[in-house]
Amino acid sequence: MFIDKIQISAKAGAGGNGSVSFRREKYVAKGGPDGGDGGRGGNIVFRIDEGANTLLYFRYKRKFAAENGGDGMGGKMHGKNGADLYIPVPRGTIVRDAASGKIIKDMSDGEDFVICRGGRGGWGNKHFATPTRQIPRFAKNGIPGEEKELLLELKMIADVGLVGLPSAGKSSLLASVSAARPKIADYHFTTLEPNLGVVNTGEERGFVMADIPGLIEGAGEGAGLGHDFLRHIERCRLLVQVVDASGIEGRDPCDDLNTISGELESFSPELAARPRIVAANKCDLIDGDSEQLLRLEALADAAGYPVVRISTATRSGLDTLLHMIERELSKLPPVTVYEAELTPEDAERERYENAVPEDTVIKRADDGAYECSGKWLEKLCGRIYFDDRESLMYFQKSLNDSGIIEKLREAGCTEGCTVRMFGIEFDFVD
Ligand code: GDP
Ligand code: MG
Repeated sequence: MFIDKIQISAKAGAGGNGSVSFRREKYVAKGGPDGGDGGRGGNIVFRIDEGANTLLYFRYKRKFAAENGGDGMGGKMHGKNGADLYIPVPRGTIVRDAASGKIIKDMSDGEDFVICRGGRGGWGNKHFATPTRQIPRFAKNGIPGEEKELLLELKMIADVGLVGLPSAGKSSLLASVSAARPKIADYHFTTLEPNLGVVNTGEERGFVMADIPGLIEGAGEGAGLGHDFLRHIERCRLLVQVVDASGIEGRDPCDDLNTISGELESFSPELAARPRIVAANKCDLIDGDSEQLLRLEALADAAGYPVVRISTATRSGLDTLLHMIERELSKLPPVTVYEAELTPEDAERERYENAVPEDTVIKRADDGAYECSGKWLEKLCGRIYFDDRESLMYFQKSLNDSGIIEKLREAGCTEGCTVRMFGIEFDFVD
């Protein structure tokens, strides 16, 4: 079964909790705080699996969760970081945000991509040894990891896409010019998944050729097998249309050429306009210039497509075809890589759009603590580093300048009261 579109959910690990602990030593009446930090939650990371060319892996596995961070311990012991979880995808997989359909990442360049960040661990009380103004003394809880619903769509990356009716000889061609071993048979629809092969022509780079399963009439309108596969040639720079020139199956090669052209046109006029070479295959079965072959060449010529006579059986014409492909490719722009429509920065901007300090809400908790919430505050709390003095000063200054300290006062908060915001806790100092 060929799968090239699927929805999955991914959840990064939560940060471990910080530890609250006090040093105990012989002859020391009361030791200082020595609780260690919680570990970071594991990230979810996409990684290219060069051996894969379908999303079959996801057929039975749709939910991915990375490991949580371990809790901190006494003796300033840091909790263990959660392991990152790698999700293997074929090259050319497009990752979209399921809700908006926007592209987050095109997995084409070979780099790993962190899709969900693990949550930060909580801070142990070792940080809070010296009481200072409005300095958080407590941030015990780790933060949850990012969680996303994602749509994966495979749009293969190949320089050359082979198109043609079933049994034209596409798989045979790919097998004769590359190390790929697609299924080859007399009956139609033997190829149920696209196959990729690297063609080495002795020139420096070589190119990647994709065998796209048989197009059939009506595929462009969604009928039959071919439609799903047409998507995969969207990214090919050049099309090679394989036609059975022998007419051995009782078809007229000219009709075959027109049928496929029609399919491409109805699926995507842009695709139909892509540079194309016609490979007149099975010429070993023809004696010289057959009437059918000449008509095919005239038809292709009129459409502006160069024609190469080949036989995958005897290998005649294959070198000519490969050199023509290479020459065409050198003139064409590189494979399309889709730009992200939703970067992590965009997502953050969207999340905190119009967030202002004025939207802060203060509530009394059951234990009497003043609990503050609001998007603006969430953003501020997400950005402080407790090991960094300047970051802490910035935090205090921001609380003051934004009027939140004043707001706390108005709510009745006085010296010594507990204030809590997004997992952070501190004593109010007036
Ligand atoms: P596809 O459906 O386009 O992938 O076609 P295949 O590569 O599976 O080939 C269909 C049939 O045509 C197979 O039986 C092949 O052996 C045969 N075939 C392919 N190329 C040639 C050729 O150049 N000459 C001859 N005589 N038969 C061929
Ligand atoms: Mg085939």
